[in-house]
Amino acid sequence: MGIGHVAVGLGLKAADRRLNAGVLIFGAFLADFLLGWFVLAGWESYQYPPDFASRHYMLFTFPWSHGLVPDLVWAAALGSLVWVFRREPRAAVLVGIAVVSHFVLDGVVHVRGLPIAGPGSPELGLGLWRNLPIELTLEALMTVAALVLYLRAAQDHSRGRRISMVVYVVLLGALAIGGQATATEQVGRSGLIANWIAAPLVFAAIAWALDRQRSDSIKSSSSTASV
Ligand SMILES: [Zn+2]
Repeated sequence: MGIGHVAVGLGLKAADRRLNAGVLIFGAFLADFLLGWFVLAGWESYQYPPDFASRHYMLFTFPWSHGLVPDLVWAAALGSLVWVFRREPRAAVLVGIAVVSHFVLDGVVHVRGLPIAGPGSPELGLGLWRNLPIELTLEALMTVAALVLYLRAAQDHSRGRRISMVVYVVLLGALAIGGQATATEQVGRSGLIANWIAAPLVFAAIAWALDRQRSDSIKSSSSTASV
C-alpha cells in the first residue's frame, strides 16, 4: 500500500490537532523506511514475480520491518521518541498507532503475507493486490476521507496552507496510484532501497512543512512544544 499510509497519518491528526501530520505520516511509513535499510543490510529481501508486468506487485520476505511483533517494538521506540519531545501520552500513542497501522494495511494487500512474530511464524496476507482496481479504489477513498478529517482538524490554518495540503496529497495519491497501476518495468535494487528510505522522509517532511504553521500558532498560544 502507498498513499493509504499517508491517509492514515493525515487522518490521525484528527485525534490530536497539535500533533504535526508529518510526524504521523513518517510513523505510518516507518516499516517501509526500515525495509530499505534492512534490504541494504541483507537482512530482508524482495522478489519480482515472473509475471510482474501484469501483476504490478512484488513479493517480500521482511520479518523484521513488517512483522507484527517487531512493528510493536518500532511503535514503542518511535512513540518513546515523541514522548521525549512532547511529554504527552496521547501524541506518543497516536504515533505508535500510526506505526502499527502499517502492518494492518499491508496485511490486507500483500499476497505473500506479513509474519506475526518473525521468520517462520504465521502470516497475515489477504492479497487484495490480486484485485488491483479494488485495492487502488480503496486507497483513493481512504485519501479522500483522510483529507476531510485533516481539514476539520486544521481549521486554524490559513486557507492557503489547507489548499496546499490538499493539492499535495491529491498529487501524491495520483502519482502513487497511477504508478502502481501502470508499473511494468522492474526497478533495480539500489533504486528500490533509495525509494524505501527517501520516500517516507520526503513525504513526511513536506507534510510537516505544510502543517507547521498551525502547530506554531498553537504553540505560541499555549507554550506547548510540538513535533
Ligand atoms: Zn510496507
